Amino acid sequence: MVPVRIIFIGPPGAGKGTQGKRVADEFQVAHLSTGEMLRKLCQRGDDDGLVASYIDDGNLAPDLLVMNMVSDRLSQPDCQRGWLMDGFPRTVVQAELFDGYLSHHADRITRVIELVADPEIIVERLLKRAKLEDRVDDTAETIANRLKVYRTRTKPVLSHYRKQDLVSRIDGTQDPESVFQDIRRCIGSQVV
Ligand code: AMP
Repeated sequence: MVPVRIIFIGPPGAGKGTQGKRVADEFQVAHLSTGEMLRKLCQRGDDDGLVASYIDDGNLAPDLLVMNMVSDRLSQPDCQRGWLMDGFPRTVVQAELFDGYLSHHADRITRVIELVADPEIIVERLLKRAKLEDRVDDTAETIANRLKVYRTRTKPVLSHYRKQDLVSRIDGTQDPESVFQDIRRCIGSQVV
């Protein structure tokens, strides 16, 4: 199979995590969630509580810290067969840093998948997830901030990639199986 390099962009609760794992499995590539990496970093206590404070308030961790974490991860052997980014880049600065990283490594993005979901559906899903996964950043107040951060800081990343003609929009509010099939078709058409 041709290695694929996929970026998932969507608001919190649009299904990036669930779909990301399944799609990475389907295309046999590494699943890289910067949210998970940052939560692990907090658990290890390597950050003096700094990163935890960003996550707990629904704000974004510093761009350079995230870019360094991603480039370290990409140097590992399992990423050589391709990767799926779940939650990165989340700012235009991260996207620009990543463009630099990719051109330096003579690498390119296969497709950017925008998972579209209505804010009302998102809030409902996230409050449900708060109970299931015990995530401290799934409170009503933090969710509102994360949606605002998505609108103001992450949505412009889509315009950045639209200029490179890389973005496909998928309706993330369909049932999970239909979302998966839409994504699979979309990526599949890029690699044949
Ligand atoms: P997620 O698991 O993707 O919903 O991310 C959880 C939290 O981790 C976010 O609300 C941010 O605080 C932080 N985070 C995850 N990815 C990034 C990123 N690419 N840049 C900055 N902060 C991030």
